[in-house]
Amino acid sequence: MCGIVGYIGDEQAAPILLDGLSKLEYRGYDSAGLAVYDGEKIEIEKMPGRLRGLIDITHDGEKMPGTVGIGHTRWATHGDPTVENAHPQYNKDKTIAVVHNGIIENFQKIREFLEEKGYQFRSETDTECIAHLLDYYYEGDPLEAIVKTMYRLEGSYALCILFAKHPDQVFAVRKDSPMVIGRGKEGEGNFVASDVPAILKYTRQVYYIDNEEIAVLSRDSIQFFNLDMEPIQKELHTIDWDMNAAEKGGYEFFMMKEISEQPKVIRRTIEPHIKDNEVVFDELKMTDEELAKLERIHIAACGSAYHVGMIAKYVIEGMARVPVEVDLASEFRYRNPIYSENEIVLLISQSGETADTLAALKQAKEHGILTVAVVNAVGSSMTREADRTIYTVAGPEISVATTKAYSAQLVIMYLLAMKLARVKGTISTKEYLGYQHDLLQLPQQAEMVLNNQTRIQKFANRYIAAKDVFFIGRGIDYAIAVEGALKLKEISYIHAEAYAAGELKHGTISLIEKGTLVNAVVTQEDLYEKTISNIVEVRSRGAFVMAITNADHADMENTADYVIYIPKTNPYFTGSLAILPLQLFAYYVSAGKGFDVDHPRNLAKSVTVE
Ligand code: GLU
Repeated sequence: MCGIVGYIGDEQAAPILLDGLSKLEYRGYDSAGLAVYDGEKIEIEKMPGRLRGLIDITHDGEKMPGTVGIGHTRWATHGDPTVENAHPQYNKDKTIAVVHNGIIENFQKIREFLEEKGYQFRSETDTECIAHLLDYYYEGDPLEAIVKTMYRLEGSYALCILFAKHPDQVFAVRKDSPMVIGRGKEGEGNFVASDVPAILKYTRQVYYIDNEEIAVLSRDSIQFFNLDMEPIQKELHTIDWDMNAAEKGGYEFFMMKEISEQPKVIRRTIEPHIKDNEVVFDELKMTDEELAKLERIHIAACGSAYHVGMIAKYVIEGMARVPVEVDLASEFRYRNPIYSENEIVLLISQSGETADTLAALKQAKEHGILTVAVVNAVGSSMTREADRTIYTVAGPEISVATTKAYSAQLVIMYLLAMKLARVKGTISTKEYLGYQHDLLQLPQQAEMVLNNQTRIQKFANRYIAAKDVFFIGRGIDYAIAVEGALKLKEISYIHAEAYAAGELKHGTISLIEKGTLVNAVVTQEDLYEKTISNIVEVRSRGAFVMAITNADHADMENTADYVIYIPKTNPYFTGSLAILPLQLFAYYVSAGKGFDVDHPRNLAKSVTVE
């Protein structure tokens, strides 16, 4: 989950490393550190807390001269965020420094082995054993020491390593944790990073280092080796992202920028998938006949992407009559699902690096089931592992709490449902054209909701001090409620629970007392009256109800205490509009409390550990 940056060139390394880390802070931010070779030895500075502290004590990096270095922002898995536990970790005489992203599962065993050999540990991290193991195996050839170390390590890791005795090289390796290698322009050095935004300012030319490969960077070359220490050739890729996408562009927080980008993102996701009035999914590389044969879809995902899967189930089953099973990837990977012929597994992930989703993907592949990754980050691990990839084109999402990637994933699910319904003949051409028309209206309707945000902002301000908030809905509205509750929990630290509205009376309604806030999502026409009854039930027990409903339901004013309207769309697509006020609600509560909205405590953007 952490951020890693490495640099070797003719420029001062520390400012480049700090700048790169600032672009990666969304990945982990409980402590930060740098190691720079100063011409004689490796200098190390580390600080608990946000990167700002490290920038200040190193005077923007000026206090750490040298043109080779590595840096890290940590998301602690083993040991508190302290100076000792921060990375870089190093060997006894500081001649080897390592930064690590991931978890070494057998670190305890390695630690005992090394302690017996006389090595003394100063941190509680799993990472420190790597530094000592490299020391143990080092006999003059760093590559050999790295390979021997890799053979001992179990778990996941992306590592960037400095050897004081080889100051003209930076080493990088990975296994199940993300990492890219950037090739600078002629004479401008070379780069390592856990994600592209860190190096985009310096280069757009990257190599994707694969599992169990080693990269050796010097000032003017990059070489790759496999575990047999044989050189391997890698393809150079050009990143075509817009640099501004990773900048705040005048917004106070990335989250608000990303919320505002949703109309554009929805439009951009729809456009390439509709040609001559038909939905196309060229990237699936499946004929209409093959698609028509699909008998079941498994969806595995985590967090908000799982909530997208929940909506997909309603939409795909409803429109195309194809059974959909949705699982949390962390459960799916261990539950031995039953597969049959003519089934596919959809893996949904913004980062394409989510460890549990990646494991679910691998498990499905082992069973010979076609895997389709729905991913936002170009070139990420899942895009390389899956049989097919459908990209959501949301652009880089920086804020930890997802908004625009969620919206793009939803739209892909609608399009898939329409495609399947079309090839299976479960909807008429007239119905299909109706869906298409409504889908094409979504960007503009989303714009309308966002242009009208003062009402939800005012409401959020009133509830900044809330202790518990409930979210209710039925059907698709329930799936929206779950995502709304997650947003609030993630960034405002308010306890929030989402319930299928009909389920409340089976226990949870006992928690409702005078003044409890209940946010009700009521967009599904056929369930409208049912949810109204549930609203009445909680109100009669003292709840204050904010309802999100369709524009033509002015009658809601008679039932709920506060009403937010969204434009009318097809009931399958309401998630794309109803989620917007809930994202805004969470945002304004968090910002109102003075929290760092983009960097919620304990969280990180791409969850690359299990
Ligand atoms: N497991 C390591 C630690 O706790 C690395 C964590 C990270 O990926 O930031 O230090």
